Amino acid sequence: MKRAPETRRSYASTVRYPPAYPGRCGDALDTALRSAEAYRSWRDLDPGPESSVFERYAAMPALAKRDLRAFGPRGFVPGGRSIEEALSAGEIEIVATSGSTGDRVENVWHQPWWDASEAASWRLNAHARAAAAGDHREAILTSPWCAGVPCEDDYLSRERRTLGRFLYLSERSDPSTWSDRLMDRMIAELDAFEPVVIEANPSFLARLARHIARGGRGVRSPALIVLTYENPSILHYRAIARAFDAPVASSYGSTETGYVFMECEAGRLHQVAGSCHVDFLPFAAEHGGPETGRVLVTTFDNPWRSLVRFDVGDVVRIDGGGACPCGNREGLALRSIEGRTVNLTLSPEGRAVTQGAVDRAVGDAPGLAEYQVEQTGPAAYLARIAVEDGEPRIAEEFVREALRALYGSSAAVAVERVDAIAPDPPGKYRLARAAEPVDADSLLDPRYAPPSTEEAFDE
Ligand SMILES: [Zn+2]
Repeated sequence: MKRAPETRRSYASTVRYPPAYPGRCGDALDTALRSAEAYRSWRDLDPGPESSVFERYAAMPALAKRDLRAFGPRGFVPGGRSIEEALSAGEIEIVATSGSTGDRVENVWHQPWWDASEAASWRLNAHARAAAAGDHREAILTSPWCAGVPCEDDYLSRERRTLGRFLYLSERSDPSTWSDRLMDRMIAELDAFEPVVIEANPSFLARLARHIARGGRGVRSPALIVLTYENPSILHYRAIARAFDAPVASSYGSTETGYVFMECEAGRLHQVAGSCHVDFLPFAAEHGGPETGRVLVTTFDNPWRSLVRFDVGDVVRIDGGGACPCGNREGLALRSIEGRTVNLTLSPEGRAVTQGAVDRAVGDAPGLAEYQVEQTGPAAYLARIAVEDGEPRIAEEFVREALRALYGSSAAVAVERVDAIAPDPPGKYRLARAAEPVDADSLLDPRYAPPSTEEAFDE
């Protein structure tokens, strides 16, 4: 049955963009609808050129990870081009990601497009503009399964972990098992390699930073620390600031989308409007809308992949604070990335609570080094905490009271002390989670909610 057409609201219609931007959005949508197989079922939903480009976007479904799997890399190639020829010519590669949700996706990897997206993101931060010559030395501290050279049962020489201008500081993916000797090696390598930039998983760098601070040692600081791969916590920022004397910028993106947001020197996250469009879908008011919501990403000008309204699975908070002191006036600006939808929990009354809200509640607990909050039942919450250089009972009481204040007086909160918390494979920490995953679609303000894919197939 064909449903009556309805006009959905578009948040993008209210955002200021560069003059050429709506045209680039139109090109990205037209190219996908016209020539990429994966969007065939979307064509009938297009209200056409009578509508504004953002109204046309709002009428389209969200693209899910399962769509990437169902159609494979070929379903997203625009213009009938041949993947096989490009692969054999070395123009592209196929890169598989496991992703935080566990399912394997194959992505077309086109290095020049990725590099351009990264360069566009670095223009949004003054420290990055000053530091990035394009050929600067970078030390990388993340799970070697995401980037680098993994080796879990032996140690590799510095040469084995060096790739051009990049040094991968760890071959081990679980910081909770790092030895003091391994972390001392990282310090010595930072001093010797003199990286201009450290790019790090925030929880990994925080672990190293706590080791540095505990030993009362100094370490050579880079010109800039870029946090990426996972969502930084207040705890990570605090630990890193104790050990390093360098500005810190959070960079947000994914293998599928390239670089999407970059933190400026004033602390806001600006959309990388030079390489992507972002549709913001506000939550309903009872779940934190209209400031809090989800994002869908459309990429520009990737000759090997048309990605339109891809659901990256993250929750963000819009910055409504007026013009940013950094001078950037265009594209979406965020106060924060609030964590992944799989990190959402619910209050006993069913109100959505983001990982960011959990972090703001417990992050200032004295002596707290690591934590993980799990919703174990409709009104039951368990916090695992690791406490270093502090009185454990004080941290425990702080966390218990903070979670009661966050979830409400009917919440049953248990706190368990642990020595350390291990990341989930392939090496990402989850600060909050629910035993029963929250249905993120049900949280949206229905006026902005995209039509379902089923609706798109409905004829
Ligand atoms: Zn700014």
